Amino acid sequence: MPNLISVEEAQALVLEFTQPMPVETVAMLDAPGRVVASDLTSDVDINGFEDAAMDGFALKASDIEAASEEHPVELKIVDVVGAGALYDGELHSGEAVRIMTGAAMPFGADTNVKIEDVQVTGEGVTGDTVLFTIPAKIGTNVRKVGEEAKAGELVLAAGSSVNAACVGLLASTGNTTVPVYGCPKVGVISIGTELVDSSTVPGYGMKRDSNRHTLAAMARDAGAEVVLYPIVPDVPEEIEAAYRKAIAECDYVVSSGGACGGDFDYITQIITSLADIKFEYVNMKPGKAQTFGVTSDGKLLFGLSGNPAASATGFEILVRPSLLKAQGHTELFRPVVKAVLQGNPKKKGKRRHLIRGLIEADGKGGYIAKPLAKQSSALIGATSQSNCFIVIPEGDGKAEDGMEVECIRIDLPEGTVM
Ligand code: AMP
Ligand code: MG
Repeated sequence: MPNLISVEEAQALVLEFTQPMPVETVAMLDAPGRVVASDLTSDVDINGFEDAAMDGFALKASDIEAASEEHPVELKIVDVVGAGALYDGELHSGEAVRIMTGAAMPFGADTNVKIEDVQVTGEGVTGDTVLFTIPAKIGTNVRKVGEEAKAGELVLAAGSSVNAACVGLLASTGNTTVPVYGCPKVGVISIGTELVDSSTVPGYGMKRDSNRHTLAAMARDAGAEVVLYPIVPDVPEEIEAAYRKAIAECDYVVSSGGACGGDFDYITQIITSLADIKFEYVNMKPGKAQTFGVTSDGKLLFGLSGNPAASATGFEILVRPSLLKAQGHTELFRPVVKAVLQGNPKKKGKRRHLIRGLIEADGKGGYIAKPLAKQSSALIGATSQSNCFIVIPEGDGKAEDGMEVECIRIDLPEGTVM
């Protein structure tokens, strides 16, 4: 087979021609899943004041230095202060302010003895007294200024992925909008005279177009925005027109069908006429016929195989890492784990096989990998049920029960620590 390149070579070529998307600004609540494009700092000290870490009594530690069970120290309660309120004045020796978690420490107080450790007279309100039987170190139960971040301090570095907790950090540091890498727009095209829309019952000799929807869902799952273009018959002029429209409107064009050199397969010829072609065959099964080209203005064109499992595999292996890189992610590959193969899946020919399977724990700290039934590249069901690709290396080796295999965990985010 001419120009059959390895999976790794194909991935490297795709990534070589993948550029980060232009930066855009989004509201902080829309930032999770996106990658921050520049360093974000805090506009203020968080907190901007010393506050109570617990409900208790604010006082001077020196006042209760000598406190003991035999000789309790009694202080006068001069105020009760909740979070958001301030003690109006300065706390003096002999005084305590009853203080709630989050309230600013009164000026003059250096320590906060928690409510559980004291005895109060009466209701324990202003005018009552409070007894201390143990001393406390200066600073006890007092949160320092800027513990979370000082004004100007870095809180989220460029290149970080935003998670839900980051949104809280952004909110507290004044970053209500966030510069992030843009979402690539992916145009999806299905090619095949036999294809009808999924809303139609196919006539004899026809079939429903499933790929457009699989690939659109996979693109969305990778964070991209999707444009679905109409089904195109196996007519070169129509395929070219559809591609030209999608190239004008999108960053990526992903088609399926019309691949693999049959009499009515035109995709390689068309991508060649519109772009600089980088490869057309990848050493994997399913999904050998995968054409990749780059237009003069950097749009990425993928003419994936027509068979449903082959196009989905092509997308997972080739397109998804590129979409992640375009969005600024640096973890581009799914985690790979070793497992013991259970079963004897057929290996046909010498290509690397990506067998759709289920990986599960063996109960002894390892994993077993079970191939799913119906491995035909024409069927999408096994792909939909799988949580991994069981990798059977290229070459003459067979897949045998009990052998150690690598499994690509398509159920786990890229960069997951295993
Ligand atoms: P092709 O690459 O056009 O030779 O297609 C290979 C096989 O995939 C053929 O059996 C096609 O009918 C089938 N196929 C192509 N495109 C789709 C599609 N969008 N949805 C479902 N099956 C498809
Ligand atoms: Mg076809």
